[in-house]
Amino acid sequence: MTVDLHCHLDLYRNAVEVVAEVQRRGIAVLSVTTTPTAFRGTSRLAQGCPQVKTALGLHPELAGQREHELGLFDQLVAETRFVGEVGLDGSRRFAASRETQRRVFDHILRSCADAGGRVLSIHSRSAVAAVLDSLEAAPEAGIPVLHWFTGTARQAEAAVEAGCWFSVGPGMLQTPKSREILRLLPRTRILTETDGPFASTDGAPAYPWHVEHAIAALAELWDVSVSDTAAQLETNFADLIAASGP
Ligand SMILES: [Zn+2]
Repeated sequence: MTVDLHCHLDLYRNAVEVVAEVQRRGIAVLSVTTTPTAFRGTSRLAQGCPQVKTALGLHPELAGQREHELGLFDQLVAETRFVGEVGLDGSRRFAASRETQRRVFDHILRSCADAGGRVLSIHSRSAVAAVLDSLEAAPEAGIPVLHWFTGTARQAEAAVEAGCWFSVGPGMLQTPKSREILRLLPRTRILTETDGPFASTDGAPAYPWHVEHAIAALAELWDVSVSDTAAQLETNFADLIAASGP
């Protein structure tokens, strides 16, 4: 089964059609959200479509305005084994909320630990070291999957050491530098994603079926066939789900 482990289904203008197409093609999608308030409505989008799972999130770019939704996060965390999009953003644009972001992320990790652990889709732009610090302080939070990783080689090694998985999409396959980083990551900890509709493919918003570009690029990078790459990714997804609990 093809997997898009990080997609903002609720942000497509034609979300209902996208879900229907995902179902027709049999793609597994992790539908991430950016606020706890969005969780219920986004879950409804996936009703009757068991291969779409909805994750409970609070995006670091919104942490500054949405810290008051942490109570709602704690109430909803029992309803899903997937959490995301969560994390930290260290870029200058969000410098003013850095402390709040940290407080929100640490609260979320504690909440996940209290709930018995979750699969976490994590944003770490310009903040890999801080994300790893928070994860280290909350080892029971669950299985961290760093989405759209843009750190250095050394940070990649530290993240692997810390038990992180990685979801790889169009943004990570474009530059020679990010391809070099990808080479350092264990093949058994890699999954595919699109980050649609934020990320784009050929100048248009990426859709879940565009993970096929990532599969082709990984095949080239690993120097194995596309079908062997797809099989490896399928095994990885099964392993991730198995590791996330019964
Ligand atoms: Zn995202």
